[in-house]
Amino acid sequence: MTLTVERSEIQTPKRLPLNPNYPPFRQWKRGVVNEKLQEDPLCLYIHIPFCTQRCAFCYYKTVDLKERPEIPGYVDALCQEIKMVAEKFNLSKRPIKAVYFGGGTPTVLEENHLVQIVSALRENFHLFDQRIQFSVEAEPLSVSPSKMNVLREIGVNRLSLGIQSFNNEIIKLSGRGHDEKQAYRAIDVAQKAGNGQWAINIDLLSGLAGETTETWKESLECALKTGVESITVYKMEAFANTEVFQQGVREDIIELPSEELEMHFMELAMERLERADYQPWSHFTYTNKASARSEYIFNSWQGMDFYGFGVSAFGYLGDSLLQNTSDMEKYTSLMTTGELPLARGYQFTSLDRIVREVLLGMKLLRFDLVRFQQRHGFKLQFLCGATLNQLESGGFIKVSNTEIELTSKGILYGDYVGETLAASLKNIS
Ligand code: SF4
Repeated sequence: MTLTVERSEIQTPKRLPLNPNYPPFRQWKRGVVNEKLQEDPLCLYIHIPFCTQRCAFCYYKTVDLKERPEIPGYVDALCQEIKMVAEKFNLSKRPIKAVYFGGGTPTVLEENHLVQIVSALRENFHLFDQRIQFSVEAEPLSVSPSKMNVLREIGVNRLSLGIQSFNNEIIKLSGRGHDEKQAYRAIDVAQKAGNGQWAINIDLLSGLAGETTETWKESLECALKTGVESITVYKMEAFANTEVFQQGVREDIIELPSEELEMHFMELAMERLERADYQPWSHFTYTNKASARSEYIFNSWQGMDFYGFGVSAFGYLGDSLLQNTSDMEKYTSLMTTGELPLARGYQFTSLDRIVREVLLGMKLLRFDLVRFQQRHGFKLQFLCGATLNQLESGGFIKVSNTEIELTSKGILYGDYVGETLAASLKNIS
């Protein structure tokens, strides 16, 4: 690819006086000082790797409770890591935008362990004022009135429940331990405990084994009937390390919906959710209340720093990605010796920053071209104008002077627009 933005500025050579700086002082502003004196906001992620079962479609590294993991030791290590990281990276004064407990299944923790982790966060970070969104992931079998009450007491204001399907046969095939009744019961218990004070999201998974158009439509209706504030529709991926892949792709024992059918499921979901007044804020999450949006996901995709605590957790700090060891024993033993459990990282180049910004930003449906130009000093259109034109004529996006907006077709195709733009940007190097 050739870049056509360069114009020759070469002057007739002559010996110039020393230029001590760039840009010239007349362009400097007082406001920048004020901005620099403010601490940059930060999001926090806490990883709880334990689950009550191993779901057939899951590709995360999780620990089944049946293996009797040493949970108290893990929680102690987590609290130790929180303290060490806050000190080492000087994070304790930074305003916290959102806290997210994910996994795994955070709600399999005993109530005292949840309290212990939140106390460690409070001791080491600026927590909590009402504006901080505190999200916790849960699954139906781990939802009880007492646990929900504890979550409310420790400040949780958004709960995300992995429901996946409301059809018993499909739930069973997916290897999950709950059934339809227990899914409804969990949502009901969570809603009663929240009493309108927290937002509830439920995850549905399109493309599960055994799913038909009828069962999918029924699951959508069931989800809407619950009245939750947010519904997320993930596309099931048969990754090589899943049981679904072994049985569905490799051995042909279970039948997975085709790509076309899965696309049809997403189309049905988009149409039905919008008809029920749920609006998308990402290409897979719909809410009927602005506060139900995940601030952790929204801000980290907008480029805000976030730090991930726990085994295999990763974060983005300054210009680097950092990830902890994925070895549970190593994680806890490093913490007892007072060493950070970081195992690997990635230092961003200027091009990486741009690619990441566009790729993650497009997930949020609208990409702000003005902000891009302010951050980088040039228009995104200069770098990938031809690709933008192609995507626009394909009906995936609308481009104005100020933003790129995903169309319904763009939303339906998920990461296609982001990935296509990212590929085009990577070609520049
Ligand atoms: S509950 Fe979630 S994290 Fe745990 S095994 Fe199932 S899909 Fe994976």
